[in-house]
Amino acid sequence: MKELFSNYRGNKELATASLILVMICGCQQRPLYKDTRVLMGTFVEVISPDKRASKIAFDEIQKIENLLSKYKPDSEVSKLNALGESKVSPEIFFIIKKSKEFSEASGGAFDITVAPLVDLWGFTDRKFKIPQDDEIKETLKLVGSEKIVLNDNDNVVKFSFPGMKIDLGGIAKGYALDCAAKKLKNAGIKSCLINAGGQVYALGDKFGAPWRIGIKNPRRDAPTEFITLENQSASTSGNYEQFFVKDGMRYAHIIDPKTGSPAKAGLISVTVTAPEGLTADTLSTAIFVLGKEKGEALAKNFPQIKLMVVEEKKAKRQ
Ligand code: AMP
Ligand code: MG
Repeated sequence: MKELFSNYRGNKELATASLILVMICGCQQRPLYKDTRVLMGTFVEVISPDKRASKIAFDEIQKIENLLSKYKPDSEVSKLNALGESKVSPEIFFIIKKSKEFSEASGGAFDITVAPLVDLWGFTDRKFKIPQDDEIKETLKLVGSEKIVLNDNDNVVKFSFPGMKIDLGGIAKGYALDCAAKKLKNAGIKSCLINAGGQVYALGDKFGAPWRIGIKNPRRDAPTEFITLENQSASTSGNYEQFFVKDGMRYAHIIDPKTGSPAKAGLISVTVTAPEGLTADTLSTAIFVLGKEKGEALAKNFPQIKLMVVEEKKAKRQ
């Protein structure tokens, strides 16, 4: 039998590690402490002139991962997914509430209820398959953030249909970096860069100048673009790290909740910078689904963000 699936690059754990390349350059008057750990399925690197920073950031990111990872059976999200109704911590309640807001703001392009579709296409267990049309149609009945009912009085989250599930993969890292930045600020740390694969948060500046980040262009010979960040986050979503190929067609891990299939909006990658990681993370995922035109229209509703897209057609011309 012909090889069906190929080209899935490595495992989920480390797949997004190369999206954003951090450049530590400029003259250093003081030492920078640098530490790396694997958290939330990626390498997380913390750089700061304050040597307390990495422990504070890692501990907080680990705490958030334990609450929301769908790969940890004891996480609050795994329990909610199994039971369909659950009282959750304020952190999980907040992130689900924000997810619903961004779902509405993006016309449904960002939607954490795509979880059953992510499973159906095999992105959760990495047993990739192309589902039948009727399977997709059936599964789509479980999709739609308006089907998540939130009770603000007691932090109970309830799914309206049995079988519904949530996947916070498109928002979790951004939120976790925001939480880590808050902890760092509370500890009096004024300067720190956290790089978690496709997601970066820059707290304060680096010895008086903004942090300088290189965004690796997915086109092999295209130059790296640089952005500067100060009390800001950047997030990249793309189709070139987690994907499989069948019959010459590429199927990547970001699902269009309207079609139930991997997004095909003509983009290779989307980078969003925003004052909060959560905003950058959700919008980069949403804009990858929407494509350039609709994505730019959505971005206009968020005056504080900056958007960079790499289109497939331009890449082909190179
Ligand atoms: P990101 O790399 O931040 O764009 O997030 C991609 C991850 O978010 C996927 O691996 C899924 O876990 C999840 N996801 C896929 N499609 C969507 C979608 N349309 N809305 C929200 N999350 C999604
Ligand atoms: Mg995202």
